[in-house]
Amino acid sequence: MTRKSYTPGDFDLRVGRSKTGLGLYAESEIPKGACVIEYVGVELTKEQEEKANSKYLFEINSRKTIDGAPRWNTARYINHSCRPNCEPNIHKGRVFIHARRKIKPGEELSYDYGKNYFNEYLKDICACPKCAEKRAAAKSAAPKSAARKRAAKKTKKTAAPSRKGR
Ligand SMILES: [Zn+2]
Repeated sequence: MTRKSYTPGDFDLRVGRSKTGLGLYAESEIPKGACVIEYVGVELTKEQEEKANSKYLFEINSRKTIDGAPRWNTARYINHSCRPNCEPNIHKGRVFIHARRKIKPGEELSYDYGKNYFNEYLKDICACPKCAEKRAAAKSAAPKSAARKRAAKKTKKTAAPSRKGR
């Protein structure tokens, strides 16, 4: 493969309804390895980050974090998946989203938000195909009372926003 590009390609992307609110969709085919979009935002120092109450923090390194909350950061609409079709790459202090595989028109873009974020916010509610499968398998194996409990918990959780905290 050729060297990774860090200039986002001119791909047609669309913000649309997804399972968990809004998501970002490919309108044209994106080749494997392509640079799709940059995750842009406001640079925060460590001190600012500690005070920030943003749902879109992206840690670049120990000293620098990007707050991607502004609407002009289209990449903020990309949802988490445990089986993602994109991946974030940090290059010269900036964040770029690359395609892990060929992405077809109409597909929702996703990347892995990372272990910390997942364990803190997504473990029980992740709507990606991998977690849905896992949950379905656990449900069919678990006794009825446990399944009921899980169903009740799930109903409660879906009322909350799907993207929160860091
Ligand atoms: Zn998942």
